[in-house]
Amino acid sequence: MPEGDTIFRAARALHRALAGQTVTAFDSQLPALNRIHEDAPVTGRTIERVIAAGKHLLMHFSGDLVLRTHMRMNGSWHIYRPGERWQRARRDMRILISTETFEAVGFNIPVAEFTSSRALSRHNELRRLGPDLLSEEFRTSEAVQRIRERGTTPIADALLNQRVVAGLGNVYKSEVLFMCRVNPFTLVRDVGDDKLAAIVDTAQQVLRANVSEALAPMTTYSGFRKTTRRASPRERLWVYGRARLPCRRCGTPVRIRKQGLDARLTYWCPECQPE
Ligand SMILES: [Zn+2]
Repeated sequence: MPEGDTIFRAARALHRALAGQTVTAFDSQLPALNRIHEDAPVTGRTIERVIAAGKHLLMHFSGDLVLRTHMRMNGSWHIYRPGERWQRARRDMRILISTETFEAVGFNIPVAEFTSSRALSRHNELRRLGPDLLSEEFRTSEAVQRIRERGTTPIADALLNQRVVAGLGNVYKSEVLFMCRVNPFTLVRDVGDDKLAAIVDTAQQVLRANVSEALAPMTTYSGFRKTTRRASPRERLWVYGRARLPCRRCGTPVRIRKQGLDARLTYWCPECQPE
């Protein structure tokens, strides 16, 4: 699942390209979207803004129409100039929004709906989102309190729960816990207040740093070839994707295990993050 900063970047890029422009064409492989488009055409509307809410991407059109998409594991938005060759196959296209100067293409997007701002404010999943690590109003104390309420949950699982704190995904989960030297399987009730605050602050810093355009997406470890924008996570991250490779701090082989109800992969160093 993309991390909150990935969605934030996507929303910002879409906003820059599309805000203020008029939709000249709309196309979708998703019947539910086409049904709305037939009744209340998207074509001719102005794109007012594109924002991220946790891992949801919200595209607001004039006339109180909002396109909510969620990328889950494989979805993504691309922006092209008209006529530019797409980097993904046409058959993966789910949503196409054209303006005079840009094409926004949603590939393999599994969750998409047209809604209104009123319905959005009542939307269950959105309403229940915990404090957003990338929001200006984010308060560490509020997030710490929310995590505290999950005393018997392993800390790694609590961090992934978007109702507890919004924005963190599976990669940063392992990274943040390594950076704070906390074992991912420790129950929340066994993590001290200072440590919990440090985890939340680190999570916020990592996400915020990755929202800046100077960095290759998803970088926590920059001690190695930091200017080369290497694609491999093995060269950008502390532990994620580095199973059995030596820990960057102590040399102990990094471990990997499936964790939680969704069996998400957790990476950690048994020496730096003892139980
Ligand atoms: Zn280590």
